Amino acid sequence: MSDFPAFLSRARALQAQLTAWRRDLHQHPELAFEERRTAGIVAAHLAGLGLEVRTGVGRTGVVGVLEGVADGPTVMLRFDMDALPVHEETGLPFASKAPGRMHACGHDGHTAIGLGVATLLAERQQELAGRVKFVFQPAEEVGAGAQAMIADGALADPRPDVAFGLHLWSQLPVGKAVVRSGPQWASADRFDIEIVGRGTHGALPHTGVDAVVVAAYAIVQLQSVISRSLDPLQPAVVTIGTLHTGGAFNVVAERVQMSGTLRAFDEAVRAEVIRHMHTVLQGVTAAHGAGYTLRFSEHVPPLANHPEPTERLRRVAAAILGEDAVGEGTLILAAEDMAEFLKRVPGCYFVLGAQPAGLERGEPHHSPRFNIDEAALPLGAAILAAIAASYLSHEDGHKAQP
Ligand SMILES: [Zn+2]
Ligand SMILES: [Zn+2]
Repeated sequence: MSDFPAFLSRARALQAQLTAWRRDLHQHPELAFEERRTAGIVAAHLAGLGLEVRTGVGRTGVVGVLEGVADGPTVMLRFDMDALPVHEETGLPFASKAPGRMHACGHDGHTAIGLGVATLLAERQQELAGRVKFVFQPAEEVGAGAQAMIADGALADPRPDVAFGLHLWSQLPVGKAVVRSGPQWASADRFDIEIVGRGTHGALPHTGVDAVVVAAYAIVQLQSVISRSLDPLQPAVVTIGTLHTGGAFNVVAERVQMSGTLRAFDEAVRAEVIRHMHTVLQGVTAAHGAGYTLRFSEHVPPLANHPEPTERLRRVAAAILGEDAVGEGTLILAAEDMAEFLKRVPGCYFVLGAQPAGLERGEPHHSPRFNIDEAALPLGAAILAAIAASYLSHEDGHKAQP
């Protein structure tokens, strides 16, 4: 446990390789469930290190297992690989070669870090009691990759005892990390609402039911679900992002379709919001003689870090980055499907600074001008290699079991 700085110096020696991996992936971004080239690079590297590799897990995911030399726990490390349908505008020499696709969230960096961690831990295979399960996940951006991998057995044989992952952050300086025990990332749901009225002549509204007017009341009333029906100390968001209706200017519309997103940190709060949404839609539509449907899909659960692995991560990150470099994470209403793994396996997901040098504030994630500082790559690799080793070292392997 004491040689964490050794992981850092070895990871720093890999800087050129980490940068090369990241830039190659950056030039060849692949969207959710299309990560075939990326998965091929990952599988070849893991197999070259002697890991047992399974490809096609959850369509384009890769699982690699590094076996230690003695028995012990299984530590899972998760890295997401997908890019976004964003057209890159960075002007970087290694910018995306695929028009309309970009690594605008840093998952190219996550994948490069994962390859680096595998290198670092394979070099120490003789010191490991237990095993490391590398999970390279597709389709994080659509909230579906983790579920797909789990359905395909990613958590079985061997079942992880503890799981870790990270997100590089373009608005946190390099060398800093933030960690939080308990809930940190929100749940996310897509919802689709249809208001059903009765179309008629625009001059004779009394002969129909105007779905546009009903939808307008519904949108306003739905805002009161958060502001008036929920405990103000329980954060949640209801956002309506699309609104469509078909008719002509002189026709009372029969139908309005809306879609939106619901975010919360707690399953009970989420359930309460859904109940109130139904109450509002029932009341508003009934008042006008209209009907409605409300459907939820694309659910990602809230992400909550577990206390013991989080404390350990904090200690390891502080040993590598310095005591003052590790801060307390704040709640964020974005979602992250690492939550699917942490719902089933105790662990911790943390945020690592990757703000490009010289900027006061990096471009936000998903921006066409997004970039990361590659100096963060060895830091991420060192922390994840060291946290895995902390569970698997011979001398304290047994009492370190989570
Ligand atoms: Zn993203
Ligand atoms: Zn991301």
